[in-house]
Amino acid sequence: MVVLAPTALLAAWERMRDLPPVQRPAELLRAFGMPRQDSVGRRDAALLEGFAENFGPLLEGLARCPGCGTEVELSVPVAELTAGMPPARAVEPVDVGGRTLRWRLPDDDDLAAAARTGSAERGALVLLSRCVSGDARTLDATERAALAALVAAADPFADITFALTCPCCAQVWEAALDPAEFAWARLVARARRLLGEVDELARAYGWSERQILALPQARRDSYLELVRHG
Ligand SMILES: [Zn+2]
Repeated sequence: MVVLAPTALLAAWERMRDLPPVQRPAELLRAFGMPRQDSVGRRDAALLEGFAENFGPLLEGLARCPGCGTEVELSVPVAELTAGMPPARAVEPVDVGGRTLRWRLPDDDDLAAAARTGSAERGALVLLSRCVSGDARTLDATERAALAALVAAADPFADITFALTCPCCAQVWEAALDPAEFAWARLVARARRLLGEVDELARAYGWSERQILALPQARRDSYLELVRHG
């Protein structure tokens, strides 16, 4: 696990900003110095860890109430999410409609292949054909639902949700949470702040970007305060 220093953080931001969102989780893991994971849920669990280490213990953002449209502030402790997850069930062959299906958990490459189809329906079929033995197209809706439940139970972090209550209309709903989205938003905010600090200090003192980024944050903050308030 890596805590990103300013220069590394800016390099990661630069590498990632033009990537399609489906490729960001893998790139974020790489930036955090973490190995590639063999399932989407394990990847997201690792991203939560990397997030907490780099950006602190709270996932903060906004969610829109499906009842009245109010934007609700959310603040979820990473530790609470992790502790609330059920243990992963084993990936085992399953008997469906008189045949035994072998299956595995989807990983980043499977999701990317599904995303390339550009349609949820075709994407689901691609996931099935990549992750299930035999001809997955012959599975009916009930069989697919049973398989989806097995996948969810075997990879709990692949679907992270938490309950929100609207302060205006008291509606309660389950919101989905994407660790990569939170980590990317925080990385972008940190990168913009660093660039702003470089801009301000370079104008005031004539220092280079490299010199400014090499300063510890506390010292950068002190100089910025001097520049702003004398
Ligand atoms: Zn509401």
